[in-house]
Amino acid sequence: MNKLYIQNLGLIITEQCNLNCRHCLRGKCSNKVMSNEVIEATLSQVSAIGVLHLEGGEPTLAIPTIEKILDYIIKNNILVDKVSTVINGTRYESRLIELYGYIQEYINRYNDETSEIAVSFDKYHIEEIKRLNLLKDYLNNTSKYADTIYYAGYYEICNKLFCEGNAVNLDKKITVPLKPMKTFVTYVGKNNTFDKTNGLCNIGPVVTINVDGTITESDASYNNQNTIYNYGNVLNESIIECLLKNKMKVVKPNKFENKTNKQIIKYYTYKH
Ligand code: SF4
Repeated sequence: MNKLYIQNLGLIITEQCNLNCRHCLRGKCSNKVMSNEVIEATLSQVSAIGVLHLEGGEPTLAIPTIEKILDYIIKNNILVDKVSTVINGTRYESRLIELYGYIQEYINRYNDETSEIAVSFDKYHIEEIKRLNLLKDYLNNTSKYADTIYYAGYYEICNKLFCEGNAVNLDKKITVPLKPMKTFVTYVGKNNTFDKTNGLCNIGPVVTINVDGTITESDASYNNQNTIYNYGNVLNESIIECLLKNKMKVVKPNKFENKTNKQIIKYYTYKH
């Protein structure tokens, strides 16, 4: 099977969350966690990933799932430029920092990219945190994450990122404008290469594998965040077939041509 290079791959690792923000992208929270079958069915089709977005729900509630994903990537030599996760800041999980240590050690060592943990800081998020009386925890945890990374010896910088965008609530089918949306970003990695001008809201098309294996694809750029395409399910269809069926143009990128440290046999990306 020809394997896929995906510039932005989102994995909804869990739908669990301890908050209930009114703008939530995920609609109703549930107890669902991504299964081993979905993880393997997805990653076995992929040879390289530009940015791997580990998304929730709240990712700190699914640490074993993150472990399984990283384990599969490292064991199967999948090239990943960087890993990005957004957490809600109300829970401190030292294991998450350790896992970013592995990313630094085994994934980012092959490139100049910078993986990141971002703590949500938009207006509706803070509103929910205040409603639950968690603001003190949120502020403590945010600086604790940054401090731990710093003392663990990883390159660290805390920053404020301002960007604009829309959040889409899939259950309620409504769009909530986030203006401005602020996100604290803690960088983990050697270099501070995060593109502040583009930020998190202008990353282009994202192929997302939902917690149950369904495949969706959206354009996460400023103007097109609402456009979400639904494809098949990774448990019984190949991602590349789904993309082709939906008239994606499959192209071979030259991005990894000079990478000699790992073998890529076949890799593809796509564009609209
Ligand atoms: S923290 Fe994120 S996943 Fe949880 S309810 Fe808020 S927006 Fe949704």
